Amino acid sequence: MIDLIKTNGTVNRHCAWIVTDKEDFKGAVVFAVDETHARGKGARVLCDDDDISYIEARRFPDGDQFYDAGPIPASFLAHSGFTFECSGCGRTISEDECHERALYLDDVQGTQDSSVYCNIVCEAEDRLSRARATMIEQRFIRRAKRLIRARFPKASFDSLRGAPRADAYARYAEGQTRLQQGSVDFIVPGLAHPVSLKFDRRSNAGNRLSWFSSKVDVDDFRSLLKDSSSKRMERS
Ligand SMILES: [Zn+2]
Repeated sequence: MIDLIKTNGTVNRHCAWIVTDKEDFKGAVVFAVDETHARGKGARVLCDDDDISYIEARRFPDGDQFYDAGPIPASFLAHSGFTFECSGCGRTISEDECHERALYLDDVQGTQDSSVYCNIVCEAEDRLSRARATMIEQRFIRRAKRLIRARFPKASFDSLRGAPRADAYARYAEGQTRLQQGSVDFIVPGLAHPVSLKFDRRSNAGNRLSWFSSKVDVDDFRSLLKDSSSKRMERS
């Protein structure tokens, strides 16, 4: 069912428009009653502002059917000339790629409003990769907390002086999923601010695990670490 909007006694249909950003060639489909309305929606969707000077809009009659049908499937848009990048393998999804490689646009998963994948296998592999990354991230945080407790038995991960953070980031690269960065904050009684144990794969210092404290605590924390030979502390 097409939505009807009455404006000053005139009935306008909500129609599909292809809006594009003239600067970086991003595009989307929006539903609007006229070109100006479409460009305004396009500016918000593509640029997150209200400046329509960079936005072009042209009618997309084939898209009208989706006004009440939910997000427009990426496979439909790919058949209509849109180009996507697969969120799993990164390959280009377009009619041209379809002709040159074994890509079937009917297999494409996702919508204009979600991640887009070549097919359900690519989507499943990406989810599996993300699950591996999540497991590695959680494993780092658990191990870091064990190490912290071993070194500082009175350490606390709860604080009345702010919420200590624990986060980690793993990703698939060069054939395997590995931890890239991680950080666990903790409280040591007697220190003014939380301390952190950080991991950084890019570190060239030999030890990718490092302790960090605030400037005001650095001398006290250094003394607490004095028995460790595999530590490195930097002022933050
Ligand atoms: Zn893919």
